[in-house]
Amino acid sequence: MARGFNFSAGPAALPEEVLKQAAEEMLDWHGSGSSVMEMSHRGKEFMGIAAQAEADLRELMGIPANYKVLFLQGGASLQFEMIPINLLRGKPVADYINTGEWAKKAIKAAKTFCNVNVAASAEDKSFTYAPAFADWKLTKDAAYVHYCANETIGGVEFNWVPDTGDVPLVCDMSSNILSRPVDVSKYGLIYAGAQKNIGPAGLTIVIIRDDLVGKAQPTPPAMLDYKTHVDADSMYNTPPTYGIYIAGLVFQWIKRNGGLAAMEQKNIEKANLLYDYLETTDFYRNPVAASDRSRMNVPFTLKDAALDEEFLKGAKARGMTQLKGHRSVGGMRASIYNAMPMAGVQALVDYMKEFAAQHSN
Ligand SMILES: *Cc1c(COP(=O)(O)O)cnc(C)c1O
Repeated sequence: MARGFNFSAGPAALPEEVLKQAAEEMLDWHGSGSSVMEMSHRGKEFMGIAAQAEADLRELMGIPANYKVLFLQGGASLQFEMIPINLLRGKPVADYINTGEWAKKAIKAAKTFCNVNVAASAEDKSFTYAPAFADWKLTKDAAYVHYCANETIGGVEFNWVPDTGDVPLVCDMSSNILSRPVDVSKYGLIYAGAQKNIGPAGLTIVIIRDDLVGKAQPTPPAMLDYKTHVDADSMYNTPPTYGIYIAGLVFQWIKRNGGLAAMEQKNIEKANLLYDYLETTDFYRNPVAASDRSRMNVPFTLKDAALDEEFLKGAKARGMTQLKGHRSVGGMRASIYNAMPMAGVQALVDYMKEFAAQHSN
């Protein structure tokens, strides 16, 4: 089978150019005589690769000098725990915004460590919107405020950044990081698993304001302490070297293609193409409030769920894979991260129209 259009939510499609470059460099990276996978993480070749990746990420996101960038492991799920462990700083309460499956997991993890105040929740409407800031019931002296910028499963995305004043804002950006420009200075901590919009699974990126490092009470085990990883430049233990290398190639690909502003433009166009079509039909349905629809993950159901299998089969025959929706939502989900070209979304919409026409009576 040729490479088609892969709509997986994660691990997700990577830019073909990046995969080709990695393939070319697989056996012998830049005359080093070995694959990046086979290099010492403390050797000068890999140190260079990691330093370049960090520099490129800093440039792309405009990360201020007082923020540290960490390349960790354990996925976003480990961050659900490291965040309370490190950022509570002796305070009893953290505020969380409940917007869906990922927010719920973060909340559940935090409850082990502190009182969680769910300051706003979209559960009343089956997680189909982002609660307006005016309705957030924030705690005055919360340790931090946590929200998920893009709910990968529900397809709900924040198109605005909350202003939590002096209380550090913490954000799970696993599925929309690098999809648009972001003002990092508004955040205390940003984290993202790599496998949605950055690179292979196994790498987790944490961007943390330096005044929040080393304040954990009590002092955590070394591996769970951001300070350990800050002090060791993410090399306290062996980092996910190949993941960092591929992420670095992706950063360079984004730079060559106009940076985050250009990514955003392209992502808006792709999402509009799909949502505009969804607006015109009642054969398919997306339940999310129009203003909060994700540019990255577009869940939709068919009018008749009995047609789901046939829809997926037909899509696969046209080279469009991994469209099956999350088990908790059903239906379909088209994940259209940076690496998804416009042609892929166009092919999907064309197919959806054709399928609807064939099955309408
Ligand atoms: C995928 C995802 C996670 C979980 O990531 P893991 O790397 O599997 O721990 C958390 N949050 C969001 C928003 C995600 O999309």
